Amino acid sequence: MTEKLIYMDYQATTPCDRRVLEAMLPYFCKDFGNPGSTSHILGERAEEAVEKARAQVANLIKATADEIVFTSGATESNNLAIQGVARSRWEKGNRIITSAIEHKCVLESCYALKKEGFDVVILPVLKNGVVDVEMLKKSINDRTILVSLMAVNNEIGVIQPLDEISAVCRERGVLFHSDAAQAVGKINIDASMADLMSVSGHKIYGPKGIGALYVRKSQQVKLSPLFFGGGQERKLRSGTLPTPLCVGLGMACEISGLEMTRESEMLTEYKNYFMGKILNGLEDAYLNGDRELRIPGCLNFSFRGIEGEGIMLGMRNVCLSSGSACTSASLEPSHVLNAISIDDELAHSSLRIGLGRFTTFEEVDYVSSKIIEIVNRLREMSPIWTKGG
Ligand SMILES: *Cc1c(COP(=O)(O)O)cnc(C)c1O
Repeated sequence: MTEKLIYMDYQATTPCDRRVLEAMLPYFCKDFGNPGSTSHILGERAEEAVEKARAQVANLIKATADEIVFTSGATESNNLAIQGVARSRWEKGNRIITSAIEHKCVLESCYALKKEGFDVVILPVLKNGVVDVEMLKKSINDRTILVSLMAVNNEIGVIQPLDEISAVCRERGVLFHSDAAQAVGKINIDASMADLMSVSGHKIYGPKGIGALYVRKSQQVKLSPLFFGGGQERKLRSGTLPTPLCVGLGMACEISGLEMTRESEMLTEYKNYFMGKILNGLEDAYLNGDRELRIPGCLNFSFRGIEGEGIMLGMRNVCLSSGSACTSASLEPSHVLNAISIDDELAHSSLRIGLGRFTTFEEVDYVSSKIIEIVNRLREMSPIWTKGG
């Protein structure tokens, strides 16, 4: 039997939805105009398409179209938000607060600013993966210019209390940026809770290479650009807009908005089935991250005594990530699992299961059974594994 590939890595990326691709196609060869060239019909058509897309993105996160800046993805959006705020208030000793479980592009942006003399505070998270809001309150001082905290974590799927964080930041008059790449299109998001919010196309069945930054319309939200040029995107992001990609992101947002509730119900059933089967079927298997405060499409388990990579080798037709995959080639355990106090051994034994729009029950059933079978087999062969230890 030739084994069919099964994709369970929806946090790394998602396949482009066919409907998204269909919407994009006319803007490559037919209506290819530059959306900035509004002196002729082809430019106008492109501009209309881009503005429709901008409204679709805004609509999904309850923003207005003029608050959306197109970027190349959430990495750029995060850089623009963090570096952009820092550049507009460039003074040594100004404080930026973030957390230990942020995506590398947020952490690395902050480290770069630290080298320039900014005071960077990395907040710890609680054992369930939720950021410590009390520590946040204590960490804000009168030199704090920005708090950057993600909405949903990409490794453990834990949802952060954006409303509480937002209230703290508003009360203290500090700008709040949220990396919502894993949240938008999956849970209800009201961007106005934040001042800046990052979105990624390819995490929501849109194309790769496009994202958006929500920039709240307010006197207080000041941002310096990272790119200089033609002054597109309210001078915040110069460069010709990639019309097909913008249209794709817009369509992806519209579809997510329409199908989010149904999709989330389906994924919750799959998640409960998967989780129940693994946790009841195996000893010394743990779910990483809070059991309740999570998006249904992301499960992260640790299996004591087993290498995550070893499980993956046993089912090469299943595409998923292990706990060290996020730090790519290096075998460093994930900084996120470290931050929730998972010991190195358990971190190395972790697997992230990403379920999404095109996941079927048969796949969920097959992969969960397969994991149990492989873990049991590897443990039987292991000279060091003993029950309960
Ligand atoms: C994928 C991801 C990013 C990076 O997004 P790109 O669009 O690939 O640049 C940033 N943050 C989180 C939480 C992500 O999941």
